Amino acid sequence: MFIFARKGVKFYQKVNINTEIKNSARPEFARIPLAALGDDEMYLKVGPNELISKYQLIAQSNKKGLYVYSPFDGEFISTELLRIPGIGKVPCGVVKTSESPQIERPFKEQLPEYDFDSLIEMVRKSAVIDEVDGVRLFKKLEDLKNREVQAVIAYGVDDQPFTAASTAVLLNFANEVAAGLNLVAHALGCEQKYLCIKKNYRNAKLFTDNLQGIQIVNVKGKYPSTPAVKGFCERVNGVMIGVQALRAIYQAAAYGLPQVSVVVTVWGEGIAEPGNIEVPFGTPIKTLLEQCQAFGTIERVIAGGIMTGKTAALDSPLYVSQTALTPLVKTREYKTVSCIGCGRCGSVCPVGLNPYYIMGAVKQEDFARVSQLGAASCIGCGCCSYICPSCQPVTEIMKYCRKKAYDYKKEIAYNA
Ligand code: SF4
Ligand code: SF4
Repeated sequence: MFIFARKGVKFYQKVNINTEIKNSARPEFARIPLAALGDDEMYLKVGPNELISKYQLIAQSNKKGLYVYSPFDGEFISTELLRIPGIGKVPCGVVKTSESPQIERPFKEQLPEYDFDSLIEMVRKSAVIDEVDGVRLFKKLEDLKNREVQAVIAYGVDDQPFTAASTAVLLNFANEVAAGLNLVAHALGCEQKYLCIKKNYRNAKLFTDNLQGIQIVNVKGKYPSTPAVKGFCERVNGVMIGVQALRAIYQAAAYGLPQVSVVVTVWGEGIAEPGNIEVPFGTPIKTLLEQCQAFGTIERVIAGGIMTGKTAALDSPLYVSQTALTPLVKTREYKTVSCIGCGRCGSVCPVGLNPYYIMGAVKQEDFARVSQLGAASCIGCGCCSYICPSCQPVTEIMKYCRKKAYDYKKEIAYNA
């Protein structure tokens, strides 16, 4: 089956990345994020200088029973407030790591059959986070209580340049992703199961044998694919979950392990040894860059995909939604000039906005028009900035416009 991402931009990426997954080098110090996107306040379960082991519970929230587990053996030192790209300032547990002994985990040959409530509970306790949006998966599942869902869709699309983490996970752990998807589908009572992938349809043949009745959906066309996949999701009345989160569900069910790592593609102009690496949460970005032999003067590191990612500091700890890391070493000669009104930004926008008109309205402080022109539906994909011949920071301006459109709508609702 095919679905099409019609509007957006086309990338010409000639080099295909190796899809092997390596283990990350162990950093001397890790800074483990103690909260995910939208979490309540967390309370430490360990104290300074306490020895901790891998998978040990180190923080918990009182309200909703959120958990954080240690991805390392070592000594807990203290907490620090650090900026995590895409989340903001988050308290992090500083751990002096030590070598972890290899421990054989008991494997459940027969996976438990979860009903809806027991699946939510298992996913919550295993601290599974969906890499697609960085939100705890149990919250997404809880939202389905008020909705009749008929399909589960695994999101395995890598559609930004220098990203291959989902493909690598599928090629190496298709069985685990499929088993996770089947567990969710069974708990939700869904017959329809899909796996959305992009570009790598030929790769799909390598893992179709393992797919246990899951139908492949090939997303064709331009970046970004997310609106097309979301549209498909709505058509089949489904729920979309990232392939890494599905694998984490399988690992929790089969081995009783919480999610403590994410597969990250490290690639870009300043990398001699690009690759996919399984990274324990809290590993500093510089450890990965060293492992992948970064060279030259790194100007910026983008965490989370080059189109939508955020600039990250070298000491920033890696977290679950950062499935790509791209260091940039060259200073490109971008010269911003005035908007020439060419309309290209509107021609690529996947949600049909016209940033040129919206930016004009915001300049005139006509927020009613900004709202009318649909600025609130901008998904921040970055296509408009990418295509702009004048090098205008269109996406950044659109973020501001989106906020203004929301504020305007709120004010109207308040005064109504
Ligand atoms: S693409 Fe750039 S130059 Fe063209 S209308 Fe949009 S903002 Fe202006
Ligand atoms: S206006 Fe928003 S949704 Fe449209 S191309 Fe720009 S960033 Fe993407």
